[in-house]
Amino acid sequence: MSTFKAPKGTYDLIPPESAKFLAVREALSAPLRRSGYGYTETPGFENVELFARGVGESTDIVTKEMYTLTTKGGDELALRPEGTASVLRAALEANLHKSGNLPVKLWYSGSYYRYERPQKGRYRHFSQVGAEAIGAEDPSLDAELIILAHDAYRSLGLRDFRILLNSLGDKECRPVYRAALQEFLRELDLDEETRARIEINPLRVLDDKRDSVQKQLVGAPMMRDHLCEACRSYHEQVRELLTSAGVTYEDDPKLVRGLDYYTRTTFEFVHDGLGSQSAVGGGGRYDGLSEMIGGPALPSVGWALGVDRTVLALEAEGVELELPPATEVFAVPIGDEARRVLFGAVTELRRQGVAADFAYGGKGMKNAMKSANRSGARFALLVGERDLTEGVAQLKDLGSGEQTAVALDRVVTEVRARLA
Ligand code: AMP
Repeated sequence: MSTFKAPKGTYDLIPPESAKFLAVREALSAPLRRSGYGYTETPGFENVELFARGVGESTDIVTKEMYTLTTKGGDELALRPEGTASVLRAALEANLHKSGNLPVKLWYSGSYYRYERPQKGRYRHFSQVGAEAIGAEDPSLDAELIILAHDAYRSLGLRDFRILLNSLGDKECRPVYRAALQEFLRELDLDEETRARIEINPLRVLDDKRDSVQKQLVGAPMMRDHLCEACRSYHEQVRELLTSAGVTYEDDPKLVRGLDYYTRTTFEFVHDGLGSQSAVGGGGRYDGLSEMIGGPALPSVGWALGVDRTVLALEAEGVELELPPATEVFAVPIGDEARRVLFGAVTELRRQGVAADFAYGGKGMKNAMKSANRSGARFALLVGERDLTEGVAQLKDLGSGEQTAVALDRVVTEVRARLA
C-alpha cells in the first residue's frame, strides 16, 4: 500500500466495479443521444462568480460547499459543484442560441465537487450525467426530459424509484407567494439560521428535513395555490404529457430543490432503497438563469442524474447489469515460438473486434491458466510446441472444459463463430 489514500469523501473506481459505472453512464445518456442532444464538455473549474450568481449566493452549495482557489495569476476559481451554469455559459459563449435553431439541446457527463459531510451516497467528488434544453418555453420539452430520465432508469432495470413533481411559479406569481410564505414562517418557532433563511430564500425552509420544522409547516401556504393562470396551465400540460407517456409521478407541493435558479417545473427522482440520500436525480426549468449570468432571456430546462447513487440504487434493488465480458479469449503460449505466434493471433482477434488478452510475463502453464480463469474469458487459446508443428491451436471452452484443435489460420473465424 502507498502512504497516500484517496482524499476524504472520495473513492476510486477500479475493476470490476468500474465497469458498472461505465454502463450506467452509457445507459443514462443513451436516451439523450437518440433525442437530439449533442455532447458537451466544459472545464472542471470556472470563475467562482459564475456559480455565485448562477447557483445562488444564499445556497448551501455556494456558501458552504464550493472548493475555491486563487490562481497564481489572481483569478478566483471554483471546482464545478454542478453542471447547468457551466453548460449555459458555454452555450452563450459559443453563441449557440443565435444559430436560429432553438432549443439548443446539450448533454454532458463528468465529475462534480462539493465539500459536503461525507456519508453513504454523499461524496465530495461524484459523477453526473446531465442534459439541458436551452432557449424554449414548451411544456413538451419539460415532459421530454422527465420521460428521458424515466426511460434511462427503466432501461437499467430500476423499478423502485418515484418522480416528485412541482411547479415553482414564475416571476409573476412567485414573489406574491414568497411574501405570503414569509409571513407564515416568521410566526414559527425556528432557530437563528432558519430565521435568516426565511428572509433570503423562504422556499428552502419547506425542504427542511427536521421533524421539528416539518411539524410546524402544516398549513403553510403552498405555491400550487398561488400559481398564476399561465403557470397553472403550463404545469397542467406537463402533467398530461407525462401521463399519456405512461410516466407516473407524485405531485409534491413542497419540492423546492437546493438551487436558486428554478422556475415553473421542478422534479426529483428519488429511490426508496437509498436511505437519507434518496435523490438519484433532479432538475427543472430555469427561465431566469441566462439573464442572471449576463446573457439574454433564454427560458430553459434541464436535469442532472447522479451516477454514484444510480449504482447504489441498482445494488439496493439487486439488479445485475448484463455487462459485456472484459475478455472473451485468453491466450496461453507454451514456449517462445508459441508466444510469438499466439501474440499475432491475439492482435488479429482484437482487430476483428474480439476482446482478447494474453498471458504476459513468461508465466508457466499452471499460472497462465489461473489468469485465464480469473479473466472471466469464455475460451482459452493454447499453443505448445507440438501444436506448432501441426499448425494448430487448442481452443478450450473454460466453462465445459472441452478442447478442440483449430488450424492456426482459422482461429479468428472459429472464435468469432463460437462467440456469435
Ligand atoms: P443536485 O444538483 O444537487 O440536484 O444533484 C443532482 C444529482 O446529483 C442528485 O440527485 C444526486 O444523485 C447527485 N449528487 C448530488 N450531490 C451529490 C453528492 N455529494 N454525492 C453523490 N451524489 C450527489
